[in-house]
Amino acid sequence: MTAQPMLDGLYIDGQWSAGNEPLQVINPATEAPLARVAGGGPEAVDRALRAATGGLARWARSTGAERAVVLRRIATGVAARRERLVQLQSSNNGKPQAEAAMDVDDVIATFDYYAELAEGLDARQDAEVALPSADFSARLRREPCGIVGLIVPWNFPMVTTAWKLAPALAAGCSVVLKPSEVTPLPELELAAIIAQSGLPQGVFNLVCGTGLAVGAPLAADPRVAKISFTGSNAVGVQVMQRAAETVKGVSLELGGKSSLLVLADADLELAVELACGGGFFNAGQMCSATSRVLVAAELADEFLYRLKARAEGIRVAEPFEAGAQMGALVNQAQYQRVLGHIDRGLQSGARLVCGGSRPAHLAQGYFIQPTVFTEVPLDSALWREEIFGPVLCVRSFDSQQEAIELANDSEFGLVASVVGGDTANTEAVANALQAGLVWINAPQVIFPQTAWGGYKQSSIGRELGPWGLQAFQEIKHVVRAN
Ligand code: NAD
Repeated sequence: MTAQPMLDGLYIDGQWSAGNEPLQVINPATEAPLARVAGGGPEAVDRALRAATGGLARWARSTGAERAVVLRRIATGVAARRERLVQLQSSNNGKPQAEAAMDVDDVIATFDYYAELAEGLDARQDAEVALPSADFSARLRREPCGIVGLIVPWNFPMVTTAWKLAPALAAGCSVVLKPSEVTPLPELELAAIIAQSGLPQGVFNLVCGTGLAVGAPLAADPRVAKISFTGSNAVGVQVMQRAAETVKGVSLELGGKSSLLVLADADLELAVELACGGGFFNAGQMCSATSRVLVAAELADEFLYRLKARAEGIRVAEPFEAGAQMGALVNQAQYQRVLGHIDRGLQSGARLVCGGSRPAHLAQGYFIQPTVFTEVPLDSALWREEIFGPVLCVRSFDSQQEAIELANDSEFGLVASVVGGDTANTEAVANALQAGLVWINAPQVIFPQTAWGGYKQSSIGRELGPWGLQAFQEIKHVVRAN
């Protein structure tokens, strides 16, 4: 086996360097080492924050129009390296190339969108505020909230980053980004693109490393005004606790246990297609996975029959194989975790409809077949907990109200999908669901214009849209006696 190159894992104050905490990065589809990254620790975080302090002084004074130019350059740079980024997303994360391409396109759209919003800021800056007294006048400013720490997971590397980074830069903040230690390669490439974008030195800093070595000191540091975190609930709670000590703002995008409702007048083929998309895209490693499928009783048998046939027909393959429809899970820990959930599901009395293990034709790599369960006890972990793998639980319902109650009976509330024929009825069901984003008869399309985030323990705050930008701004009023 050839020795893997050691890549610099720190980009601080416009300079690449190596940290002293090496990370081994693997290709989950082959289990082979892919690269080593010289990540950092608390000392690198300290250096990055010193750089970000200087960066903030420069960037916070820029106009929205100036920031828009840089954001568009980043979008153009990503587009120019699209193929390379697709390749890195697939090889580091295990997802098929077609899915990786969607990720890269999402990143481009996000930077372009926030370029537009940044431009719009200048005309609104210092807007006069109508007051009920002629003795005073007031103006409104939106200012960057300061240095922000961005901590992201491994399931959509670069996309989660773009949803935080583009609005943070648009607002005029300086940034310390910590990618997942599992998938740092796409972010390293993104950093190389940003390095060429004309962004002033110190505004964007990248520190690769583990959660404890980099994430924890970043969340605790008093120089950080805000932490924007996407990841698990357990870590989200720790981040919030650390951030509380210095009263910094937090945005959290955490777990989900979302439902897809197949109403009595649904188009069954569409329902089956959307169930597969909601459960098996990204090998089910989505906070937005609609892993609970609720089907009107009169359709349930036929739905399950068609879902089984379709799930069994999904081509699970190495991401670079032509026609690959589902790739590998991201690493051994996630693979074992999902298999553990499947085992416990079987023990709970749930009935396995299809899948449940490694595909016979793939001897290596962290692959799991598309898996469907039914008759899942409502108090089982399979029904209640986020699996983060290609596992669907199907349950029938007798009344629409019962379906809504089943969907809402969760500590999470990220997204939901509704499949049905009657427009007014599907809209009413969407309104009754406790979720931040509801799709009706649609795949999980995400536009930068619509917000991302959910109810209950899924989130604090919203990303994307104007809300994503506001998350990195402070509101200032200046009031003068006339
Ligand atoms: P994770 O919580 O283990 O890690 C997320 C990030 O936090 C990583 O960069 C990690 O290094 C860092 N981290 C770990 N410990 C830390 C600490 N003590 N302090 C600060 N940072 C720390 O999550 P993961 O396994 O990488 O990702 C999967 C989870 O992410 C799932 O639970 C999923 O639901 C969630 N997720 C949510 C969304 C959303 O938008 N709601 C999107 C994607 C993933």
